[in-house]
Amino acid sequence: MLDRLRSIVQEVSTAKDLQSALDIIVNRVREALHTQVCSIYLLDQEFHCHVLMASEGLNKDAVGRVSLELGEGLVGLVAKHAEPVNLRDAPLHPHFQYLADTGEEDFHAFLGVPIIHHRSVLGVLIVQHRERRRFDEGEEAFLVTLSAQLAGVIAHAEATGAIEGISPSGHRIFDTAFSGVSGCAGVAIGTSVVIYPHADLSHIPERLIDDVEAEVDYFNACLNAVREEMRELNEQVGGRLAEEERLLFDAYVRILDDDALGNEVVERIRMGHWAQGALGHVANEHLRAFESMEDEYMRERAVDIRDLCARVLSHLQQEKPDKPEYPDDTILVGEELTASTLVEVPKNKLKGLISVKGSGNSHVAILARTMGTPTVMGAVDLPFHQLDGKPLIVDGYKGEVVTNPSEHLLEQFRATIREQEELNRDLAGLKDLPCETADNHRVSLWVNTGLMSDVPRSLDQGAEGIGLFRTEVPFLLAERFPSEQEQTDIYREQLDTCAPKPVTMRTLDIGGDKALSYFPIEEANPFLGWRGIRVTLDHPEIFTAQVRAMMRASIGLDNLQIMLPMVSNVREVETAASLIRKSYHELLQEGADLPFPPIGVMIELPAAVYQTRALARMVDFVSIGSNDLTQYLLAVDRNNPRVANLFSSYHPAVLSALQHVVDQAHAENKPVSICGEMAGNPGAAVLLVAMGFDILSMNAAALLRVKSVIRSMTLEAGRKLLGKVMRMEDEQLIRNAVDMALYEAGVDRLLRSQRVN
Ligand code: PEP
Ligand code: MG
Repeated sequence: MLDRLRSIVQEVSTAKDLQSALDIIVNRVREALHTQVCSIYLLDQEFHCHVLMASEGLNKDAVGRVSLELGEGLVGLVAKHAEPVNLRDAPLHPHFQYLADTGEEDFHAFLGVPIIHHRSVLGVLIVQHRERRRFDEGEEAFLVTLSAQLAGVIAHAEATGAIEGISPSGHRIFDTAFSGVSGCAGVAIGTSVVIYPHADLSHIPERLIDDVEAEVDYFNACLNAVREEMRELNEQVGGRLAEEERLLFDAYVRILDDDALGNEVVERIRMGHWAQGALGHVANEHLRAFESMEDEYMRERAVDIRDLCARVLSHLQQEKPDKPEYPDDTILVGEELTASTLVEVPKNKLKGLISVKGSGNSHVAILARTMGTPTVMGAVDLPFHQLDGKPLIVDGYKGEVVTNPSEHLLEQFRATIREQEELNRDLAGLKDLPCETADNHRVSLWVNTGLMSDVPRSLDQGAEGIGLFRTEVPFLLAERFPSEQEQTDIYREQLDTCAPKPVTMRTLDIGGDKALSYFPIEEANPFLGWRGIRVTLDHPEIFTAQVRAMMRASIGLDNLQIMLPMVSNVREVETAASLIRKSYHELLQEGADLPFPPIGVMIELPAAVYQTRALARMVDFVSIGSNDLTQYLLAVDRNNPRVANLFSSYHPAVLSALQHVVDQAHAENKPVSICGEMAGNPGAAVLLVAMGFDILSMNAAALLRVKSVIRSMTLEAGRKLLGKVMRMEDEQLIRNAVDMALYEAGVDRLLRSQRVN
């Protein structure tokens, strides 16, 4: 049974489009269950009905023409309850709806199961039989399992059609929305540029070309280059191979000589596709076919095909490096965007970002917020390969991407962009005003930085200091560990530009989702593993070079603070502090003249929350990293789009942990700040001020928004709101209560629509 399931799923996933996928399903399921009918109805959102999309056993003419209104018939019943319906004699059921065109009057036994993807019912998979009998438990379980596995494939095929502007039943459609989560609030309209990893066959975007003959020649030249390469390799290793291995190698090389694969690619190029895309398409079709074969030896051949095609791809890419052209309204789209890909796009051209993987708390989203670029993360169902060059809307408020935008919708979004611009102009007037509540309670607004370019922008927004300089960002962009002198130069620039305002430099926080290409950390659970201070304490040479560089950079400026990430116990702080002291004394001995910098600890783990008092006693300040604290308190991976909706700063457990840390740090007379993304959310900021935080540190783009909201409320009103939400048990109610309070205080609609993650 398992084999049959696997082979159906494999076969369906090789289908070229939705219709062929559905045809394969009805065919193979009817065969596997020995039934007389297998059909699929899919929901057509646009026309609010379920359309008969494929059938084996019913009248073929009815396919694509017969439909049922929502809730109508047994199909409607299965879809409505999202549960299987298994009937001995369907026509006797009160919901049975006789559809004359289908010829189903001859069939009595009926089993319908919902096709569910991400909690929504896409359609219904049905088998029918002439006899009056219930389908047995095994058959029902088979169909349920199959439907669950196929839902993703169907959703993907549907989405691909939607991108081309076609509904499942073949109608022209507009405004198809793909949901993800908000990465950075704001709206952008633009043209997508899809970026993809190199030499990776499964991630090549579709592109069309004009000069077909030149592309064919270019492909053939690269194919010949790989043939030549393989012949040379054969000669080099030939003598060292045993007879049996030699035969295998010959068979391997013959894959290229076999004209089939090359010809198929050329055929696809002649249809107007670029060589890379054509190769990827053909290679993937062959790979899926080989991978679904029963014979293990044949399955293994997939590895050879992948390797050879990757070699050809690499030639195609090397000889004509694909430097994307960035249009003036670029929306960068990628499966997993990284910090380095973002900085490659000229700043004035980048309008929006979409990442298929990751969530609102991934580091790339944090970077996007620093740049103020509307971003959607975790748009997992978006068939991004097909998007290159297409017009898109990025709705960073809702966390949605809209493809095929209609003129009507574009006009609505243009109006929001105008509203945004107007709001920004109003906010600019707040730059030089103090951040205080309407009843004169003063709070400090600081910023988080990573790149030097963040600093002038931050100062320009009226930042009073840097609450978090993520020192790993320059490390991430380098190709080896920066030397002590290189680090000193980078840090000096930040400290100098900000002086006399304080700069909080966090010691290297790598691991988790921040990997250095030159220092790979392979772990099953990276967020629970070797991360932050755990890495640097195990490598004191890296730690001391960094803190020495920080201190040397601060000579004469005296505005440095050092902060320790990912602390889980007092011993880590003791060890780190003693390494900092040692480095400090070395610098003094070398003749440097500087004061010992204030040291702070980040509270990012539940363990640290409960040791706040002990930790606060050992340091000069405390800062909450609410991104990680929320991730660890709620056991929600901050990068995983599947659980992104569970990541909530308004969870009562998160709010009470924050209040606890503030109270405990203050009991030791130590200032407490928050430098997680929550601080940059206007609604959350009101609660944080009421909790007693001394400093809120956020991305520069959020600063004036937060200031405007704080200035429009009294501390008294904030405290009242806090008192109320602290008694609530459900994060959704808390969210509503905060939203209502902002509404009553007359806060702008766009500031309120900035969702807190
Ligand atoms: C945090 O965890 O809240 C934090 C500020 O650190 P990072 O986001 O860099 O992990
Ligand atoms: Mg953190």
